[in-house]
Amino acid sequence: MHMGSRITAETSACSAEIFTKKVAGSSKDWKAGEPVPYAALAEVFERIDSTTKRLEIAEYLTTFLTNVITRTPGDLVKVIYLCINRIAPDYEGLELGIGEGMLKKAIAQATGVNVNHINAEYKKAGDLGLVAMNSRATQATLFKPKALTVNHVFNKLREIAKTTGASSQTKKVGSINGLLAACQGQEAKFIIRSCEGKLRIGLAEQTVLGSLAHATVYARHAQESKKVSSDRIAKELEEASKTLKTVFSECPNYDLVIPPLLEGGTELLREKIRITPGIPLKPMLAKPTKAISEVLDRFEGKKFTCEYKYDGERAQVHFADGKLSVFSRNSEDMSVKYPDLIEHMQKCIKPNTQSFVLDAEAVAWDKDEHKILPFQELSKRKRKDVKAEDIKVKVHIFAFDLLYLNGESLLKKDLEHRRELLREHFTPVEGQFAFAKSRDIYAVEEIQAFLDESIQDSCEGLMVKMMEGDDATYEPSRRSLNWLKLKKDYLAGVGDSFDLVVIGGYHGRGKRTSVYGAFLLACYDPESESYQAITKIGTGFSEEMLESHYKFLHPLEIPNKKPYYDLGDAKPDVFFEPKVVWEVLAADLSLSPVYSAAKGLIETRGVSLRFPRFIRIRDDKDPDDASNSEFVAEAYQRQVVASGGGGKGKKKGGGEDGGDGFW
Ligand code: ATP
Repeated sequence: MHMGSRITAETSACSAEIFTKKVAGSSKDWKAGEPVPYAALAEVFERIDSTTKRLEIAEYLTTFLTNVITRTPGDLVKVIYLCINRIAPDYEGLELGIGEGMLKKAIAQATGVNVNHINAEYKKAGDLGLVAMNSRATQATLFKPKALTVNHVFNKLREIAKTTGASSQTKKVGSINGLLAACQGQEAKFIIRSCEGKLRIGLAEQTVLGSLAHATVYARHAQESKKVSSDRIAKELEEASKTLKTVFSECPNYDLVIPPLLEGGTELLREKIRITPGIPLKPMLAKPTKAISEVLDRFEGKKFTCEYKYDGERAQVHFADGKLSVFSRNSEDMSVKYPDLIEHMQKCIKPNTQSFVLDAEAVAWDKDEHKILPFQELSKRKRKDVKAEDIKVKVHIFAFDLLYLNGESLLKKDLEHRRELLREHFTPVEGQFAFAKSRDIYAVEEIQAFLDESIQDSCEGLMVKMMEGDDATYEPSRRSLNWLKLKKDYLAGVGDSFDLVVIGGYHGRGKRTSVYGAFLLACYDPESESYQAITKIGTGFSEEMLESHYKFLHPLEIPNKKPYYDLGDAKPDVFFEPKVVWEVLAADLSLSPVYSAAKGLIETRGVSLRFPRFIRIRDDKDPDDASNSEFVAEAYQRQVVASGGGGKGKKKGGGEDGGDGFW
């Protein structure tokens, strides 16, 4: 059930006042106008950590946020950042993710325990946060330290993330040490986890957004202190949550979104915050389909269009005040990686185009043969210090959507209209910029023919999109049924590929002793913030590939598994920092006695991929954007339905060696 509706039904009956009261049993309170104590936030984290019930998690957080809004609204932005474990908007690229070694050093310095002991404790507990907390607890201190505030902790974490240069290591250790020395109770646990870049209390960003929206509603009613019917509150809560989530997907920046939300609720928010060139919005995503018939089931009788699905990297191009920038699927600023893209774009902007946000695919281009090259050619490019004159493989942009033009959002216009504006305001430039090839189609045979054409032109398949009406708007961040992807691989019966995190390695044997011979891959489970092992992949790699994987992964080796690696019974020889995402195709999925992927979603057992085959490195995806457990469960269910079996685990396998196969 949707969390929002549950909280509505059960809590609104109590009326709004309850939300300005203390959480029952809370010992960490503060007065209006005082800074929010970090201990109060740590207590909420602890409560959230102690339950798996979504409703309870949302209630704890909503209550706390309501208190922050009514008592210390100036701290709200920082509270929210700490809840989602970030210190700046995604696209600013400012990250914590401090390595284990540095954290151990800081814990040792702050608590007077030596590093060997910390290592031993870490081996037992598997969580540096706990080690830090326990070490602090057993430490004799002369003076009770001054209580930490949310404001101070956040500022320090930001300062740590920004520290660069020669003595940055020492400075960072010093700052963490300073924070730890002031910690009391459970605070150290969460500070260390924040430094690691993973809070691991099962708090998803969507829950935080929902609670934030609800808290603004409750806070307003509490301040007005009028009696309101529970029906009305229920309606307001639902609307607030929907509006905030929509606005945030268009402008993912809490520093900008929170002030109008506090000032005038979601009504003012909707009015003030719009898609803005320079701030990447979350891209609309497509649903996979397995057959042309599925496309027709969805689109029959509607006006739809098929576009080539180019095989490159998503590029969201922004332009305002004469400045061009380009963002990846992940909202990473790629302007430096693609100086040639910026150069190309300048030539195709018509004079009547003053500002825009364009959705496109950047593809590797052979300028002598005038054709698309494999995507890998582009991923070889450096990410920084790229000079236009040194670039051998050029980038070609294929534009497929226009989201903003000359000061106006186009998100609510239908695709037909957006496409018209796109074509009116840009000029194609041979070998540099073109509109995605498209055809408006009505019969199955035509789709098949266009699909074949796209493959011949080195594309991956087709994107099928709704053209007209309310279903043809642009839906940021949504994987929508109004965009379907039809890839040639699906039609071969193997289904969509998986993007998986490389979390472990197996030493090679025979000729391969100097490299890893196989790898342990994992999907991401957002609920538990853990990586769940899904398969071992070891065949189909050339010697050269294994060497290059080794070079890349060896520096990421870590001595122990991360506490948030759910291995099931998999036993790799080494572990890696969760950094690398690979795209992988598999022959099929099976229920597994060994792997933990999607466990609990179908059965208590997990699911594994059989006969996985490496496709490519996905450096445009963060580990947390890897295929999630729900996607894995859905792929398994679809396979069961497609094979006509209602039975579970028809196939045996998924043993730890089940990964190797016929590819
Ligand atoms: P997803 O982005 O759906 O999570 P993914 O990153 O693995 O999955 P694909 O499954 O290959 O990507 O499909 C979607 C991607 O296809 C888009 O993100 C975009 O980069 C690319 N693409 C290429 N051509 C088009 C097009 N005409 N319209 C929309 N997207 C396109």
